[in-house]
Amino acid sequence: MEWDEEQHFPAEIIPQLARLGLMGVTFPAAYGGAALGYIEYGIVLEELARIDPSVALIVSAHNTLCSGHIFLAGSEEQKRKHLTPLARGEKLGCWSLTEPGSGSDASGARATARLDGDGWILNGVKSFVTNGHYADVCVVMAVTDKTSEKHGISAFIVEKGTPGFRAGKKENKLGLRASDTAEMIFEDCRVPKENCLGKQGDGFIDCLKILDIGRIGIAAISVGLAQGAFEASSSYARQRKQFGKAIGAFQAIQWKLVDMATEIDAARLLTYRAAALADRGVRMTREASMAKLFASELAVRVANEAVQIHGGYGFIKDYPVEKYYRDVKLFTIGEGTSEIQRMVIARELLGRL
Ligand SMILES: Cc1cc2nc3c(=O)[nH]c(=O)nc-3n(C[C@H](O)[C@H](O)[C@H](O)COP(=O)(O)OP(=O)(O)OC[C@H]3O[C@@H](n4cnc5c(N)ncnc54)[C@H](O)[C@@H]3O)c2cc1C
Repeated sequence: MEWDEEQHFPAEIIPQLARLGLMGVTFPAAYGGAALGYIEYGIVLEELARIDPSVALIVSAHNTLCSGHIFLAGSEEQKRKHLTPLARGEKLGCWSLTEPGSGSDASGARATARLDGDGWILNGVKSFVTNGHYADVCVVMAVTDKTSEKHGISAFIVEKGTPGFRAGKKENKLGLRASDTAEMIFEDCRVPKENCLGKQGDGFIDCLKILDIGRIGIAAISVGLAQGAFEASSSYARQRKQFGKAIGAFQAIQWKLVDMATEIDAARLLTYRAAALADRGVRMTREASMAKLFASELAVRVANEAVQIHGGYGFIKDYPVEKYYRDVKLFTIGEGTSEIQRMVIARELLGRL
């Protein structure tokens, strides 16, 4: 709550997360990772989010988005040079896809990268970048071929301190205030040729693969947040007395708790199903989107009912449900809004019509 109030980014706990292996959960030990699977990764995010969803978001942007992109598309040399310190938690990562004018339609990106001798020159502004001000390594998407029908977007690794690259405005947010959300600015920023990540022009396709895993992560965070809000509510329902009884003795409150617990289990199982498919290397676009859609919307409902169960005390900052209620909304928006998840699932169910 103190971090939230002060918008304090908890850099001091990153070494502790690293010691637990949580800054490189799914990456091979050869690259400094903990070599666990996606189910374990989901459990990590769930448990962190149960207490503080901001910390879970910091860990997921670092693991899934930045490090995950380098692991997916990087050359052996890029993995050794960049992934290893990220997975060990010696460096922090961020991932820049969104722009002020292109969010849901990420293919409409306008940031550019132009080849110039032995390097690339990057120009443009990226928005809403988690970990932006604190990251040592940024994976950024930029248009390399405006004429391409397949979006012509490529990914680049940009290190902190590179001339022409800086974090701009720090966003002042409704929730998740201990996580950092930044604008990233590229002004004639020159990176070596070898910092192009993956095949030139394949950046957008790789982003879609990264977002499949990302959505499992957001689903897991939603489950953890909902679990935390449920636990706070069931304990309050046992303690708080009205009309001479614990409010948990009233059927109206019991049914709220029953519906919360049942739907949290359903969301958790959807998340585990998608994670299990990812562990088997099976394409799981539909399952990941279903898990993200259901879990994030369920978490919004749970956080709402948690405040209701707390009555007036739910509305003040002395109880944790006030914070869950604010934090939860991001998860129906980030890494694809609920509307975009429904578009993805519809396409998976019906094909392109
Ligand atoms: C706290 C936070 C952290 C974030 N972290 C990152 C990050 O680390 N890296 C990164 O790249 N991005 C990040 N994002 C960006 C996030 O992924 C985008 O905000 C999100 O994808 C939505 O894009 P937008 O905000 O531009 O909304 P828009 O795309 O403008 O959408 C506005 C509304 O229109 C709806 N809409 C849009 N298109 C359609 C359609 N075709 N059909 C129906 N409805 C539609 C949307 O669902 C939404 O309700 C973050 C955002 C926040 C708030």
